[in-house]
Amino acid sequence: MTNSPTSRGRFGIHGGQYIPETLMNAVIELEEAYDRYKADPAFNAELTELFNSYAGRPSLLYFAANMTADLGGAKVYLKREDLNHTGAHKINNVLGQALLAKKMGKTRLIAETGAGQHGVATATAAALMGMECVVYMGVEDMERQALNVYRMRLLGTEVRGVSAGTGTLKDAVSETFREWTNRIDDTHYCLGSVMGPHPFPTMVRDFQAVISREARAQILEAEGKLPDAVLACVGGGSNAIGSFYHFIGDEGVRLIGCEAAGRGIDTWETAATMSTGKLGIFHGMKSYFCQDEYGQIAPVYSISAGLDYPGVGPEHAMLHDSGRAEYVPVTDEEAVCAFEYLSRTEGVIPAIESAHAVAHAIKIAPTMDTEQVIIVTLSGRGDKDVAAIARYRGEDLHE
Ligand SMILES: *Cc1c(COP(=O)(O)O)cnc(C)c1O
Repeated sequence: MTNSPTSRGRFGIHGGQYIPETLMNAVIELEEAYDRYKADPAFNAELTELFNSYAGRPSLLYFAANMTADLGGAKVYLKREDLNHTGAHKINNVLGQALLAKKMGKTRLIAETGAGQHGVATATAAALMGMECVVYMGVEDMERQALNVYRMRLLGTEVRGVSAGTGTLKDAVSETFREWTNRIDDTHYCLGSVMGPHPFPTMVRDFQAVISREARAQILEAEGKLPDAVLACVGGGSNAIGSFYHFIGDEGVRLIGCEAAGRGIDTWETAATMSTGKLGIFHGMKSYFCQDEYGQIAPVYSISAGLDYPGVGPEHAMLHDSGRAEYVPVTDEEAVCAFEYLSRTEGVIPAIESAHAVAHAIKIAPTMDTEQVIIVTLSGRGDKDVAAIARYRGEDLHE
């Protein structure tokens, strides 16, 4: 298959393991354990049981009849990852990694978080499995996401502030890698997206691939055919690769990743890595990154905290190079309009991240004919974003 990584986790020229020697042992131990357990029927049965009995899988593939009628083109289906426990797709990856860590004899999870979504999911899995948990979070983000900090503490997790650099997600990732180097015997680094050194991009993708495994069967059941397009938002790229994976071999299915353009790809206030980034090496992988004129990682911006990572997973970089997947920028304004549109049209408030994919569906569905079908992944629910959207519209909810 073209989409399995070649030696040492390469996706075309991307991916790899660009890490200091001190981290090599941890990464090799993880690679060997994952190779062993991914093919183990007992491990997979246990994970499926967790997905179904704890996370609420399989998630619905919902036919958005009102939206379809209103747009007057392709039939729109929503893959409802927003209905999972903790409100997003993140739990799929976290349950997989926490279970693997347990099998490896680890008693402690560490994780990075930006907006707090991955931190909350990891804290949740740690509580469930009786593991110790420490989450690293930029001090800027801790202030902006105080509610999620408290949520993690409720779940029994220690949150450690990171003040290095810009005090945001990329600095939290760097700090978590540093901590892992210091303590690999009892600790697993539960990384939150399809990024970092091999085996993370492959392993996280495999755990998220449950999205397209279900969606493919569900659309065949509902429509008797494959979709014409699958759309998902792209931050690091985990919900998107999970949504694409089982359709990659189906040439007639367009795969469309929707990036956060922020205030526009012709401004500096953007997080659209494919549109504005360049090839580079950061956080253990070769891929595309937003960089300044000196090749330093550029500060990124999006209204959506979950999409403002300055890079993209290496498998997406490969799918971009080969042309198998398309990546399109979606601005804050377009995403906010889509957030409001889906809320009033379908009674579903999407995460502002997911609203980026909804926005692109609103653009393309009317250009397609009524026999055509698109699937849009709703990566998460939007309750967490309501106050920020109100603020964007000039209303202060005094939260
Ligand atoms: C974290 C998050 C994202 C972005 O992460 P990916 O790895 O690109 O999927 C998207 N949507 C929601 C709801 C999130 O919480």
